[in-house]
Amino acid sequence: MAYEQIWANDESKLSKEEIHKLKKDGLDILNDIDRYAKEGFASIPEEDWGHFKWAGLYLQKPKEAGYFMMRVNIPTGIITNEQALTLANIGKDYGRDVIDITTRQAIQYHWLTIEQLPDIYKRLGEVGLSSIGACGDIPRTIIGNPLAGIDRNELMDTREIVNEVYHFFQRNEDFSNLPRKFKMSISANVQNAGHDLINCLAFTPAVKVIDDVEQVGFHVKVGGGLSSKPYLAEELDVFVLPEQVKDVAIAVTTIYRDYGYRQKRHRARLKFLIADWGPEKFREKLLEVYGSELHLKGEDKVEEWNAGYFYGVHQQKQEGLSYAGFNVPVGRMNSEQLIQLATVAKKYGNGEIRTCNSQNIVIPNVPDGKMADLLAEPVFEKITIKPKSFIGYSVACTGIEYCNLALVETKETTRKLAEYLDEQIELDVPVRIHMVGCPNSCGQRQIADIGLQGVLMKTKEAGMVEAFEIYVGGTLEKDHAKFNEKLKGRVTSENLPAVLKDLFVFFKEEKHPGENFFDF
Ligand code: SF4
Repeated sequence: MAYEQIWANDESKLSKEEIHKLKKDGLDILNDIDRYAKEGFASIPEEDWGHFKWAGLYLQKPKEAGYFMMRVNIPTGIITNEQALTLANIGKDYGRDVIDITTRQAIQYHWLTIEQLPDIYKRLGEVGLSSIGACGDIPRTIIGNPLAGIDRNELMDTREIVNEVYHFFQRNEDFSNLPRKFKMSISANVQNAGHDLINCLAFTPAVKVIDDVEQVGFHVKVGGGLSSKPYLAEELDVFVLPEQVKDVAIAVTTIYRDYGYRQKRHRARLKFLIADWGPEKFREKLLEVYGSELHLKGEDKVEEWNAGYFYGVHQQKQEGLSYAGFNVPVGRMNSEQLIQLATVAKKYGNGEIRTCNSQNIVIPNVPDGKMADLLAEPVFEKITIKPKSFIGYSVACTGIEYCNLALVETKETTRKLAEYLDEQIELDVPVRIHMVGCPNSCGQRQIADIGLQGVLMKTKEAGMVEAFEIYVGGTLEKDHAKFNEKLKGRVTSENLPAVLKDLFVFFKEEKHPGENFFDF
């Protein structure tokens, strides 16, 4: 039964957003963009503003000003040289030179106008990129192992599988009206580079002996997600062969589409259905929709969690080739930096740049003999291979500069905070700090050692000011995964650096050598 049949007969079961989506599918906005571009922002009815999400666009704050934020899908974070140059030039020509890497390996622009969109879509399309489905109630960009195909720590190369699943869902009208966003991760990296437990659907590396032959494949987790009610994903008792991944992804997405909750938007993510059904019931439904049996679980090959960090120079699986991991402070570059990165990636490697969910980059495929010359290039003075500890492990969401939901500024606040801490204190282990501007948690504050969530706080002296709740101890470490916990009280932005300094001084004095924040 199609989802329209399940819900459309009884509007009392639908949120107002659902009723709106039934009147006009999100992807239909793509038919209007050229016309709106000719007629200007004033010609766009307010009821269409939300539909731009399906085209990968949000209206920036304040919405009435008519500037868009655009997110471009980068499946697995792999950008070719041609794509990197196109992305850089779009940022230069239209995006006021601001280019962000998101925590889902996507590229994000700001300041775009409706008149510029047709040319931006044309340029993206010419190099095989798209922003369609990067936002909205639809399968989002697929994250995974940024080292796919070159990784000594992967069971198999997942690039082809990710591309196959991504292209199946791109502009697919059968799946353009999900209850809410749907996030997938596909990775065969044993260090869990794909952050399995916080995705709606995650494929993780596994092996199983089938008919006396050991097969490489995946285990499947469902129902993870953050925001104000975070859940860690539940594991299903199945082993999926590489050739089954696409159909399993379709089956899970179909179940979510047809059975996901549509009454209240804040309960519409897949995690709420999984929490109610449990993994066994979901597995039964999966087999029914998939249409045949799946193997039972095999041996889990996830060994640890690297939190998406790849700093330094490392050997690839290809003899004689290495990759280098660099820090992009709080994930923000300018166009010139991206042009320079693309240029050196081509000069020394095969031109590729790869984005990480830690908002950083990797340059792969550099012959060992050329690595020293690559590292001596001027662009790597600011985008460094060996960042100082706090700036190197800081993540920040978009924040009040551009985001309508934000309560506080995040990018610059994080950068200044990390720089201050790096001046004040030296630790023997990295501490991951994630800052978010509201409970939606695009900066994934729940999995950070130190999560900082923006709030507004009334003070006697200054009235309403920006402040933060402090959360400690989050991790996706194997067998110890947990969300961080809130400390009592709130701290103003002004006092935050001093308070965190005190916290880290205490940590340094009390910890054992090499002890991590999460073990403390
Ligand atoms: Fe905006 Fe909140 Fe997401 Fe930050 S976490 S980008 S403030 S919605």
